[in-house]
This record gives sequence, structure tokens and C-alpha cells, in this order.
Amino acid sequence: MPRLRQKLTSTIERSVMALSRCTGLDRVIRPLYGGSGAILLLHRVVPRERQSRLAANRRLEITPEYLEQVIVQLRRAGYQAISMDRLASGFERRDWPRPFICFSIDDGYADTLEYALPVFEAYQTPFIVYIATGYIDGTILPWHLVLEALVVASNPPLPTAHARRAEAIIDRSENRAALFHDLNRKILSLSPRAQYAFADTLAQESDRSLTAFRHLMLDWQGVKALARHPLVTIGAHTVNHPPLSQLATAGQVQQEMLGGKRRLEEKLGQTIEHFAYPFGTRHTIGERERRIARQCGFSTMTTTREGTIHPRHHTHRDSLPRIEIAGGNEASLKQLMLQLCGVRAMLYNRFVPVVTG
Ligand SMILES: [Zn+2]
Repeated sequence: MPRLRQKLTSTIERSVMALSRCTGLDRVIRPLYGGSGAILLLHRVVPRERQSRLAANRRLEITPEYLEQVIVQLRRAGYQAISMDRLASGFERRDWPRPFICFSIDDGYADTLEYALPVFEAYQTPFIVYIATGYIDGTILPWHLVLEALVVASNPPLPTAHARRAEAIIDRSENRAALFHDLNRKILSLSPRAQYAFADTLAQESDRSLTAFRHLMLDWQGVKALARHPLVTIGAHTVNHPPLSQLATAGQVQQEMLGGKRRLEEKLGQTIEHFAYPFGTRHTIGERERRIARQCGFSTMTTTREGTIHPRHHTHRDSLPRIEIAGGNEASLKQLMLQLCGVRAMLYNRFVPVVTG
């Protein structure tokens, strides 16, 4: 049933998006749903030849060329790029440039420095990087990329009998994508230490070492280089990037939020004002997570729920929606422009213009 509903929703979504494009309906929707601007979200910026083979992972990647196209298109459409600090102060003073755009990059991938920064620099566009400090300290790894390399792209491609014994779900191994999804779900349900041990078992089976994947994430030198850059703001994103609502106690949630904030402050010598919830969906954030984030003293907190930013978010700064940049072609660029009008958010959020929670 949920699958049927999902199918129906995406059919309606596609139809409304197409209708908006053809009829100019977006111009009608925009005043109500477009808000004052939007926070854009991206994860990885990598050249096409280095993109993931697995669709699920490629979804989190755009090319530097596409990032440039997005920036140029937004400029043409009259958007002014602002920093997260400027966005936060705009809540107080109610004086954002309209429409505004605020770029954010999650997690702390090495490609943020190598490929994203040069593009933002070329267009003097500010952005915030939300960093989960465990990635930088090497206590966690981007498991979805590790699993892709070990399970999908490796040769021999699949874990051997030892790994099969370790995890019965590998029975579905005839389908690599399904296997990846099963393993990814499994690894996300484990504690950080158990995640590492689980991935290490798989790595050893493939004669690989987990340290070989460290280069995917920034090191502290890289984070410091970003932090020093006048266009870059650094934000917190917990220590271990867990789905926070699944943590057993409020103390653990606080440890994740405050631990990440303090680690960044200690290494960078600056106050960390902004926070992004890992995963950021309504299933991973509840009232407990929002309350603790507020108590940690962050001035803005972003989710991954789709929506635009309205002055009324002033009292909902603990759950600011974002719009993800995905794809990489003309069609996805047109779609992004419609999303900025609030067309898709309107459908996703049952016609509520100010997306919170
Ligand atoms: Zn993240």
C-alpha cells in the first residue's frame, strides 16, 4: 500500500510539475509557496568520470559543471546568494534580499575543497559546510561509498562465505544493488564502533583496508583551509552522523550534537553557530531532537525536508527546510527552478507553505 501511494504521489508530482512548466502555473504558486528564498543542499561535487556506479549513491553527486550551471541560472533569475550568518541575521532584522539563495554542503567530503570550492570561488558565492567530525577524525567512514566499493564495484564482487555467515541478508547476493541496500540498512542500524567492525570484516574478505577510504573525507587540514576561506561558514553535523531519533537517550543525542560542535570549535578556534540534522527527515527528527538542538545554542538548524524559507520561520529556526540539488541536465535545472517556486514542496507538505518540523 505505501508503495502504491508512493507511485501515485510521484505520478501526481510529475503531472503538476509538467503542468506548471507548460502553463505558467508556477507564477501563481510562487507568491504563496516561494517564500523569501531557499537553502540549497548538496553532498558531493565530483567529475563525471569519478561518480558512483550505483544509482543510489550517484543521486548524492553532481558535477562541478552542473554546480556552475545552477549558480549561473540562479543569478539570471535574480537570486542573491547569501551566507548562513546573513540568513540568520535576516530573521532578526527582516531584511533579506529577495529572492535569496543559501548554499549548503553536508558531511565533509574531500571533494568539497577540491571541486566545489573553486566553483563557488569563481562566482564569489558563499556556502556553509556541515561537518560530522567522526569523518574527519576517521572514526566513521561514508559507509555507502565503502559498501559500493567493496560489494558492488569490487572483483570478486561479493563477500565470501565468511561474510555470509556474519550476515544472513547476504542471501540476496545475486542482485548487487539489493545487496548494497540491505548492507547499508544493516550498517546504519549499528553503533559507530560496530559499523567499523562490520565494514572491516567485509573489507578483509576483499583484501582491502578501510584506511584506503579515508581520502574520501576531508582531514583537519582541509577543514581548516575551508574555515579560513572568506566565503565558507562551517556548521556542525554531529560526531557520528546517526539517525538521531533512533538513539536511546536524550544524553546520547546531546553528546552527538554538542560533541560535534565542541570538536569543531576546539580545532578551528571559532564559535559554531549552525547545525544540520543527519539524514534530516521527519523520521529522524522529533521534538526531543529539536529541543536539544536549541539547548546546544545553535542559531539555525536545517533539515532535509523540502521547502522554501519564509519570515515565519523566525520561530522555527530549529527546523529550516532545504531543497536538494540533484541531477545534472537541462531538465533537472528546470525542475530545480520550479522547486524554488515551492511547487513540489506544496505537494509534499499538503499545501502548507511554511514547512517546519
Ligand atoms: Zn549528512
